[in-house]
Amino acid sequence: MNMRERQRTRGEEKTPPLIVENLSVHYPLRGRRNVVAIDDVSFFIEAGETIGLVGESGSGKSTIGKALLGMAPVTEGAVTYASDSDSDTKKIPGLRQMVFQDPFGSFNPRWKIRRSLAEPLRPHGLVRGEIRSRVEEAIESVGLSVSYLDRFPHEFSGGQRQRISIARALINRPEVLIADEAVSALDVSVQAQVLNSMKQLQQEHQVATIFISHDLSVVQFIADRVIVLYFGQIMEEASAAGIFAKPKHPYAVALLGALPSVKTTTKDRIQVRGEPPSQENQTKGCPFASRCPFALETCVQERPAIRIMPDGGSVACHRVNDDGSRDYDISSAIEHFEDIKE
Ligand code: ADP
Ligand code: MG
Repeated sequence: MNMRERQRTRGEEKTPPLIVENLSVHYPLRGRRNVVAIDDVSFFIEAGETIGLVGESGSGKSTIGKALLGMAPVTEGAVTYASDSDSDTKKIPGLRQMVFQDPFGSFNPRWKIRRSLAEPLRPHGLVRGEIRSRVEEAIESVGLSVSYLDRFPHEFSGGQRQRISIARALINRPEVLIADEAVSALDVSVQAQVLNSMKQLQQEHQVATIFISHDLSVVQFIADRVIVLYFGQIMEEASAAGIFAKPKHPYAVALLGALPSVKTTTKDRIQVRGEPPSQENQTKGCPFASRCPFALETCVQERPAIRIMPDGGSVACHRVNDDGSRDYDISSAIEHFEDIKE
């Protein structure tokens, strides 16, 4: 699908900060085989928007994040940042940031946190007082006091370091932030505080954020749009409100139906048994067909194209109608009910 056309049909005027077109990532294995970690993925993200990237462990979430920052091989397709063709912004460092789950190694152990936070601001031509106040604001935004600035990384708990790495990633107001399980290790109360301030900073500075998480309630809180990944492919993409209320793809129904905070009756969830197919044996049909209670022969034989839905989302499923309704009956799978396993 042509992402530029797609974006224009949404009535957006500005070039999005990031467009991903037909991205595939293959990891070489020993011998001549490859692991196809990402298979023909396309999407774009608008300034200030948060996309939640969800899917089971091994579905390729981290690989997408890494490929966007050149940390995983782009085997096919293109990752295009608007700022790359803009001569004013091209050379500004730190426009793209990533926060991982365990960022300990990313802090210089010999630097006080103050310096680690100030460092990304240096190339921006700020005067000393400005740097100081930005650094103080940043640490307070993740709920830590200014007095912590004069401590070294080892003096913090894992959760505190996680918060500092979020503060650092946002300090120079990047155009794109990739947060990979960035709040997953935090206590729930701290998590809520950090999510709130992340949301506020993102909106204030129009940071396009790709938020990777296995925690669906966190995604529901923070994301504007959600991409459901399975086996390195996009199954469904939709507004967060839309997809949590009424997922279309059977896999999305199974995955999102498992969210405890969303009121679902058993009949709104479906069972997913069995294992995903092996990454080394690409299926010709839908990758979910082997586990889908609604799969038809076509699903096994033919990979469903991604189709744009009237509500602006998109879905790759033979069993979703063009008007966005389901061509299958969830209640027919009720007797096999079982939660999807993370
Ligand atoms: P997720 O973040 O959704 O759990 P990943 O992106 O980490 O998924 O992994 C996607 C697939 O790619 C998995 O099958 C994983 O085993 C494989 N993979 C990830 N990194 C590498 C690597 N460096 N070399 C080979 N295979 C990898
Ligand atoms: Mg991961």
